[in-house]
Amino acid sequence: MSDGHTFEYRGTHVVVRWNKDVCIHAGACVRGLPGVFDTARKPWVVPDAADPERVIEAIGRCPSGALSYERLDEVDATPGTLAAAAARRLGSRD
Ligand code: SF4
Repeated sequence: MSDGHTFEYRGTHVVVRWNKDVCIHAGACVRGLPGVFDTARKPWVVPDAADPERVIEAIGRCPSGALSYERLDEVDATPGTLAAAAARRLGSRD
């Protein structure tokens, strides 16, 4: 998906977004995690090519802020959900 400025690369655990207008082409992403960020490939970002934590670390090293992410595998702790009930059980001392 793209609005002409920001391009989205969806993986199983994380969505990576890249704003081409903000990118200064410093290459920190490509050097830091070449399996995920590879400008010679289309698409140039493949989020599933590394653990989501490593992808997020690499995004954190982007000097321009062109890269951002959204986690897709966070536990939903909304009250009333099964995950929230499980979290309460784990946290209880009964
Ligand atoms: S690290 Fe950020 S600024 Fe550098 S090339 Fe990658 S997206 Fe662009």
